[in-house]
Amino acid sequence: MREITVGDVRIASIVERDGPWRKIANMFPNADVELARRHLATMDPFLYDPGSDKLVLPYQTFVVRTPRHTILIDTCTGDHKGHPAPWDFPVQPWLTNFHALGLKYEDIDYVFCTHLHIDHTGWNTRLVNGRWVPTFPNAKYIFHRQEYAFWEDDALSGANSHGDNGSVWRMNCLPIVEAGQALLIDESYSLDDTFFLSVTPGHSPFHCCVHIRSRGKEAIVTGDLMHHALQCIEPDWSSGFDTDPIESAKTRWKFFGQYADSNILMLPIHFPSPTMGRIASNGDRFRYVFSA
Ligand SMILES: [Zn+2]
Repeated sequence: MREITVGDVRIASIVERDGPWRKIANMFPNADVELARRHLATMDPFLYDPGSDKLVLPYQTFVVRTPRHTILIDTCTGDHKGHPAPWDFPVQPWLTNFHALGLKYEDIDYVFCTHLHIDHTGWNTRLVNGRWVPTFPNAKYIFHRQEYAFWEDDALSGANSHGDNGSVWRMNCLPIVEAGQALLIDESYSLDDTFFLSVTPGHSPFHCCVHIRSRGKEAIVTGDLMHHALQCIEPDWSSGFDTDPIESAKTRWKFFGQYADSNILMLPIHFPSPTMGRIASNGDRFRYVFSA
C-alpha cells in the first residue's frame, strides 16, 4: 500500500509476507467454493491466484504517524518465534521494510494489537539473550483488557483454543505486561483526539477496530473483521480461525451496513495492495472498492 494521509496523519504499511496463501475452503469452511470462484472471476485479479487456487492474503503492519506520535497497529508474526509451518517464514522482510520507513525501535511511541493472534502480535517482542523482551523500548502497548484476559486464561487453563499451547501469549504478550509497558484498556480509550476504538467481536472475543480521525477525515483499521473482499459479498462466510463464527458474521453485517457508501477509508490487515478501499452497497449485499 502506498503511504496515505488522513488529515494530519500519515499511514504506511510494512508487509511481512504477500501472495497466495490459503484455499477457499481452508479459509472459509462454510463457503460455497464454486460460488466463491464465480465471485472471484468478477473481482480484482490480485485477490486470487487461479494457478494454485489460493486466496491472496498478505500479513502487514500499519504505521500511523500523527503530529505527536508514531504508532504501530498489529505486528505480524515476528522473528525467531519457532512457529510451525506455515508460519515458519524463512526470511522476514518486516524489519527491512520497517527501517525503509526511516524508523528505529526507539521511535515507536505506541503499539496497538486489534486482537492477540499469532500474526498480529509477533514483533511485539524479540529474542535477546534467550529472553523475549519488548521490541520497542519506549512504547506503550495497548491491549484490550478483556482480550488479554481471554488469551491469558486460554494459556494458563490449557484450553489451547488455537493449538499453540499458549505460546503466542507467552512469547508476544506476557513479556510486555511483565516489563510494565502494557496499557490494558477498554473500548472507551482514545489517544490525542485522533485514535479511537470500537469492539467488533467474533474473530476474537474483544477484537477492536481502530478509528483514525483528523481534520474531518476518517480511516478504520479493520484488523481481521474481514480477511478477504469476498466477505463483503458473502458476510456470512466466517474464517475458520474465528472464536465465534456466528458472531463474526453478525459483526460484519452490522459494520458493512453502518459504513456502506460512506467516505470512510478501510484498512484491512489481510487485503493485498492497494489494500485501502471503501465499502459500497451491492443490492442486499456489499462490495469492496479498492482505492488506487
Ligand atoms: Zn490475521
